[in-house]
Amino acid sequence: MPTVETVRGPVPITELGPTLVHEHLISISTEFAKFYPELSWAGPREDVVDRVTAQVQAVRDRGITTILDCTAFFHGRDMDFVREVNDRVDINIIVSTGIYTFDFLPYHVAHRPSSPVADDMLTRMFLRDITVGIGDSGIKAQSIKVATDVEGITANNERILRAAAFASAETGVPITAHTHPADGIGTRIQEIFRDGGVDLRTVVMGHSGDKTDLDYLRTLMDNGSVIGSDRFGLYLPGTATLEERVDVIATLCDEGYADRIALSHDSVMFSDWGPPGRAAQYFPTWVPTHISDVVLPALRERGVTDKNIESMLVTVPASLFAGLMA
Ligand SMILES: [Zn+2]
Repeated sequence: MPTVETVRGPVPITELGPTLVHEHLISISTEFAKFYPELSWAGPREDVVDRVTAQVQAVRDRGITTILDCTAFFHGRDMDFVREVNDRVDINIIVSTGIYTFDFLPYHVAHRPSSPVADDMLTRMFLRDITVGIGDSGIKAQSIKVATDVEGITANNERILRAAAFASAETGVPITAHTHPADGIGTRIQEIFRDGGVDLRTVVMGHSGDKTDLDYLRTLMDNGSVIGSDRFGLYLPGTATLEERVDVIATLCDEGYADRIALSHDSVMFSDWGPPGRAAQYFPTWVPTHISDVVLPALRERGVTDKNIESMLVTVPASLFAGLMA
């Protein structure tokens, strides 16, 4: 039986159950946390563990049994923190390697040659997290997170995409690509992945749900990838509203695309990127229970069947891990 590594160890893919494919338990600046904890943790670390635990428990209480945490390098991954939360909540948490940057590269990487891709520092970082584990935690990453935004596919960004592609092709570990769908750049990212030997069925084109251009979304799916309608609750100006996102999904499900769509919030359950409470003030719906409480009822109201919902929440997320090599 194929399994996927989680924080608590291997879990059969068939037992993952309802899964949110793109969330973050924490996103912190590591150097702030180390040297200025009073400026980072907004109170004792134990309190932050409590706050995040409450949110993960609320998700679990609604029947979600797996979270794919897309927190990568530069997001301040903290496996001790994640494990502490997971010790208190009976849920599967899958963690990520990758790097959250659009163009800037750490100097350790920038000053070392990038060719051949097998020897690239980035490739070695990603493969190390997948095969050995993240740091000394023993927790293996089972997802690679990359990010392309308004800057487009710069030379540095392409280097990251190619390293991710190599690591994915070597291990079968899926990729989640943060995209800026307004620029319609997803197909070019897919080309780079395909060129690197990636099975596009294991690629989530993240944040595609921000966009309502059905032709663009169909093209990404026809090329093989899963589209992430993965920012439910974060209705940024200029991106699709809740109603528009629900409408798009209902239309695409009618057309038979439920096997190519995954759902999530891209929630950040604790972040030191802004003052405490600021995100909640601006985006009160951006909580990891929004899909369970609001989106699923809205989808059903709009005629999306339970079978389609099961596909988007269970079958599609599980399929991302189908190519994992032991
Ligand atoms: Zn994210």
